[in-house]
Amino acid sequence: MKDSYNRQICYMRLSVTDKCNFNCSYCKSGVDKQKRKLLSFDELYNICVEAVNCGISKIRITGGEPLVRSGIIDFCKKVSNISGLNELTMTTNGSLLKYYASQLKSAGVSRLNISLDTLNPTRFNQITSTESYNEVLEGIKEAQKCGFKGIKINCVLIGGFNDDEIKDFVSLTKDNDIVVRFIELMPIGESANWQSDKFVSNEKVLQTVPELKMQSFDGVAQMYKVDGYKGYVGLIRPMSDKFCGVCNRIRVTSDGKIKPCLHSKDEFDLRGLVGSDLKDMIEKAILSKPQSHSLEHTCCSNSTRFMNEIGG
Ligand code: SAM
Repeated sequence: MKDSYNRQICYMRLSVTDKCNFNCSYCKSGVDKQKRKLLSFDELYNICVEAVNCGISKIRITGGEPLVRSGIIDFCKKVSNISGLNELTMTTNGSLLKYYASQLKSAGVSRLNISLDTLNPTRFNQITSTESYNEVLEGIKEAQKCGFKGIKINCVLIGGFNDDEIKDFVSLTKDNDIVVRFIELMPIGESANWQSDKFVSNEKVLQTVPELKMQSFDGVAQMYKVDGYKGYVGLIRPMSDKFCGVCNRIRVTSDGKIKPCLHSKDEFDLRGLVGSDLKDMIEKAILSKPQSHSLEHTCCSNSTRFMNEIGG
């Protein structure tokens, strides 16, 4: 269905848990202390069904880390079979993919986005507070082996941390059928209080690799390529070139709140609703989607949640 600004809303990001086996410094929160109560998989499934009835054709499963929630494969299998849903995808940190990639493929997950902010194992340990670098690389390889095509590697650029790795990330696209997407760090949750020099415009990617040639727009990403390279480079610029005019998404948190906009504090509670009541509330949330978010370099997100509670 269309929102009040004539945007076709067809994409839902569904967080199935706020728990994560990583503790990324820009994303983490005191969520364990807040103890938000997760919806059951049956409740999440009902939301998916009614969202599809409202015109959602693509669902992305996210978290926290979606693969840490037990029962996730059966849930994906059920959701992918909803009539009217065209695409079920997942965003993951990749650390458990070597165990789950094949099952995800069989369960109907068609595409994967994998977050990876650095190609340097020491930095990886530092930012994630884990030692899972090799697991993530093995997970990516396993996913490719299982037939996942066009895997997207999402890298959040952070000034003074990984902005000297831009060329290395672009080089990954030379021989690999992957898309490396640079995402601008947003001041939300933990990073809301970070110094301004951590917020790097994606313009820096184009300055560092001038060989990148603009190809097209893919949703919120501007797509580039180096001539002769197999893969693509995407730039997602919520800060330097916000894309609210083409925003086609809603988000559902694992405790059952719809967020019409990532950076708004507005939420609509779906817990306890079923059938037409549930559908009505989803429609209400879509119609209340604001024209644009107010996030600029000088001001923080109005969202009261941390990213691991929303799902990105
Ligand atoms: N655990 C999964 C993962 O790692 O992809 C899914 C959840 S994670 C919250 C989703 C995405 O949000 C990740 O790519 C992460 O880098 C991104 N993210 C978290 N905080 C962010 C911020 N402040 N600015 C930009 N992206 C952020």
